[in-house]
Amino acid sequence: MEFRRLGRSGLNISEISYGNWLTHASQVEEDQAHACVKAALDAGITTFDTADVYANTAAESVLGRALKGVRRESIEVLTKSYWPTGPGGPNDRGLGRKHIIESANASLQRLQTDYLDLYQAHRFDHSVPLEETMLAYSDLVRQGKVLYIGVSEWTAEQIARGAALARELKVPFISHQPQYSMLWRVIESQVVPTCEREGISQIVFSPIAQGILTGKYLPGAELPSGSRAADERGSRMISRWMRDDVLTAVQGLKPLAAEAGLTMAQLAVAWVLQNPNVASAIIGASRPEQVRENVKAVGVKLDADLLKKIDEVLDGV
Ligand code: NDP
Repeated sequence: MEFRRLGRSGLNISEISYGNWLTHASQVEEDQAHACVKAALDAGITTFDTADVYANTAAESVLGRALKGVRRESIEVLTKSYWPTGPGGPNDRGLGRKHIIESANASLQRLQTDYLDLYQAHRFDHSVPLEETMLAYSDLVRQGKVLYIGVSEWTAEQIARGAALARELKVPFISHQPQYSMLWRVIESQVVPTCEREGISQIVFSPIAQGILTGKYLPGAELPSGSRAADERGSRMISRWMRDDVLTAVQGLKPLAAEAGLTMAQLAVAWVLQNPNVASAIIGASRPEQVRENVKAVGVKLDADLLKKIDEVLDGV
């Protein structure tokens, strides 16, 4: 494993992180979830990402159990809040002070830890003054419950406003978690330049577009059993990519991966890691073998010629 500094901070995270959206307490049984976490630890992954809303809080609990007994100093535990997780009271959502503080305390319990290494705003909340949000984060940091702050899927302008307040309040705001893959490059034009200026790194999600970039979904073919697309809840999430034009174009990456001596999943993960503002790629896995395969993307350099060919293959999708 290799490690990168997260933003302008003293925190190192593994180039590949493990995330449990749609898998833990959902698609896979508890023993399989533990096996995936063990495979991640064995492969040198130290960074684990979850959110209170995954499986309506149950995914955090599974991760807490799976990491039990692991030396706390040897891992980084990341979670997020924003969406409601319970039956819902008037304050049970968003980035108001009450919801942030209560959510953080609940996540600490489910994850069985005294502190979170990184606490992330899962989305931006237009209905709450950003000053209130940042002050709540500042208090969590001063209380020692949270070491660093991050956000997810914010625009460049929202990140810049957050960073200005964070500076004022001395809040260590050091990361942004966006979707980023060969198929989804939205952050490149504005978010990345803003983050570079502000000392903020990307921790990117869905680097293999939820499995699409493995090439295992063939246009017009039956869905592989046990895959996300064949899973009831997962299928809704992956549906945006299940188009014949996308699946056909992705097949064009197969010879490029083979030429580079990589599997398609490894090529996809290595691709996001070529961006110097990306500190880590969060991979999901329904099986330990997937973790073992994908983690081999660490340290892979893709040359300019290959990057150009990838752009050509995916042009227009
Ligand atoms: P990926 O793009 O890595 O997709 C993971 C899925 O692809 C696996 O669960 C598996 O699904 C399939 N897969 C992985 N490796 C292989 C392989 N080698 N061969 C075949 N299939 C493979 O990431 P996710 O979309 O799962 O997202 C990763 C993490 O990012 C999440 O767990 C979460 O922590 C974070 N995230 C954050 C969001 C946010 O809003 N901040 C939103 C979404 C994710 P299967 O076997 O079932 O087909």
